[in-house]
Amino acid sequence: MKEFEYVRAGSVPEALASDGRFLGGGTNLVHLMRRGVEAPDRLVDVSRLPLSGIRETPDGGLVIGATTTNSVVAADPLVRRRYPALARAILAGAPGPIRDRATVGGNLRQSTRCEYFTDLARPCNQRLPGSGCAAIGGRNRNHAILGWDERCVAVDPSDMAVALSVFDVTVHSLGGPPGLITAVELPPAPPSVFRKARDGGVSVAAVLEVTAGIVRDVRIALGGVAARPWRASAAENLLRHGPATADRFRAAADAELAAARPLRDNAYKVELTRHLIEGVLTRAAEAARARP
Ligand SMILES: Cc1cc2nc3c(=O)[nH]c(=O)nc-3n(C[C@H](O)[C@H](O)[C@H](O)COP(=O)(O)OP(=O)(O)OC[C@H]3O[C@@H](n4cnc5c(N)ncnc54)[C@H](O)[C@@H]3O)c2cc1C
Ligand code: SF4
Repeated sequence: MKEFEYVRAGSVPEALASDGRFLGGGTNLVHLMRRGVEAPDRLVDVSRLPLSGIRETPDGGLVIGATTTNSVVAADPLVRRRYPALARAILAGAPGPIRDRATVGGNLRQSTRCEYFTDLARPCNQRLPGSGCAAIGGRNRNHAILGWDERCVAVDPSDMAVALSVFDVTVHSLGGPPGLITAVELPPAPPSVFRKARDGGVSVAAVLEVTAGIVRDVRIALGGVAARPWRASAAENLLRHGPATADRFRAAADAELAAARPLRDNAYKVELTRHLIEGVLTRAAEAARARP
């Protein structure tokens, strides 16, 4: 590993003034440094900044500080009650010992898990812009099926980000770009559901509000299928103001996946995503009906 300077920031202004790479729990960045993929001159440890904790907002939402660990977020009673999809997404992600160290800010900024990103012998536009993309003609079982272009076919690695995108959160940051993430703010939300398939990292999060059998509000996000958590707006538009029935859920999944462009090895993701969308919407409709 290349030599680097380590600075522990004592305050947010100090962190912003330190010209270096922010370090949260280090579970992603340090691993990449060990492999020679990342080689920052200076690490600015932000994990002890007073940005940790979860507090309620007067309107019934939550603010989660950026240095709160993933384990603390997933175990928080308010998160579990109001945003079950978020707790589920975290628990479906990294193993327990990693979650104990990983922070919210670090999770949202973690690097791709594309195998070629860490393979220094292969071209990778994310690691070395302009070098090409080894995955597009290589092993791409875990890669994108929606919205990709030939520059990069990797998927967003964060499960937490998939859940957050159905809550229409505000990510607060200072300085930058890309800036220091200080907190994530969640507005009040209807019941939510998250599921992740064991295979290929495909996941679906949804919130659904149903009154008298009619969908009043719906937000769906897909993980493991695109470079960002993919808001399924075609599916949402089809469902909104219509009946919350199984055939509508199937039609919504079909509408969204009509745009899918699988790569050589990942056509299986289309059917898997369709199945997950239907399952999550069915479960979300049950949760909406059970709501007091
Ligand atoms: C074995 C293993 C399995 C995993 N499986 C999954 C999985 O299934 N799903 C999933 O979602 N994740 C998974 N992860 C990834 C894990 O969630 C991330 O490693 C972790 O969330 C990163 O958090 P961190 O605080 O350790 O970040 P760090 O490693 O400290 O930093 C990661 C990046 O974020 C930046 N950063 C850190 N804090 C801030 C901040 N406050 N503001 C701005 N930038 C910041 C850093 O500069 C760096 O670029 C896995 C990790 C491991 C090791
Ligand atoms: S998919 Fe993206 S991360 Fe993977 S090799 Fe191609 S450019 Fe690199």
